[in-house]
Amino acid sequence: MTTRNYQIIITLIFIMSLVYGYSKHHRLNDLQAENQEMKAELQGFRKEIETLEFNNAAISKLASQLRAMLTIDSSDDYPGIGPLTAEEKKIMDSQPQRDVIKTQARLEHDLESIVGHLEHEQKFLNGLPTIQPVNEGYLSSDYGFRLSPFTHERQMHDGVDISTAVGTPVFATGGGKVIFVGYQGGYGKTIVIDHGFKLKTVYAHNSKLFVRKGAHVKRGELIATSGNTGRSTGPHLHYEVRRYNQPVDPFRYILN
Ligand SMILES: [Zn+2]
Repeated sequence: MTTRNYQIIITLIFIMSLVYGYSKHHRLNDLQAENQEMKAELQGFRKEIETLEFNNAAISKLASQLRAMLTIDSSDDYPGIGPLTAEEKKIMDSQPQRDVIKTQARLEHDLESIVGHLEHEQKFLNGLPTIQPVNEGYLSSDYGFRLSPFTHERQMHDGVDISTAVGTPVFATGGGKVIFVGYQGGYGKTIVIDHGFKLKTVYAHNSKLFVRKGAHVKRGELIATSGNTGRSTGPHLHYEVRRYNQPVDPFRYILN
């Protein structure tokens, strides 16, 4: 080998070592930067988890207060956390995340049961037949046993009679679904509303009916005008409240 060749080889080795050293240095810098980024990211995650934990604790407190106020049974089973994706499993592997996710699942269940409970209460309250079915007239026959105006014998009267002029507006006494509209023997032109929770109201002897079967009505909605149809001794509204299909005293429900 010539001296010149040696020189070339030595120069090449020198250049290569420079390149190697430079790239190693560069890689080290890259790794350090990456490390820094990861640390910052981790710090960020920790902060986020802390915030989540803080928020969860606050919501948790509110949820248990609401449960206590609404007397919702706290022995409800909490649902398991459903099938997880690979990504979710990875996240679940870290303890703080696992705790946060568990707490959130429990809170979600808590809030759902509170909302469900409130909706149920609201539906019940909206349906209760709490107002008088007519605004004019006078009570001509009470609920309970009475002497029948037809047979003059002691007979059960399933509702109340309110004497009022033909054409007096008749209102739904609570929200519900109209389940009967039409002529029903001695009751004449009749409307029956199902208020849910095993409660129904009956409006009989009307002159005109304004709602269709299947319609949803609200409390105070005009459904008919009173009349004298069916077996009736004079213009009046016969009004019944039925619970479990058994007549009860409508005045147990009327609040106005
Ligand atoms: Zn009657």
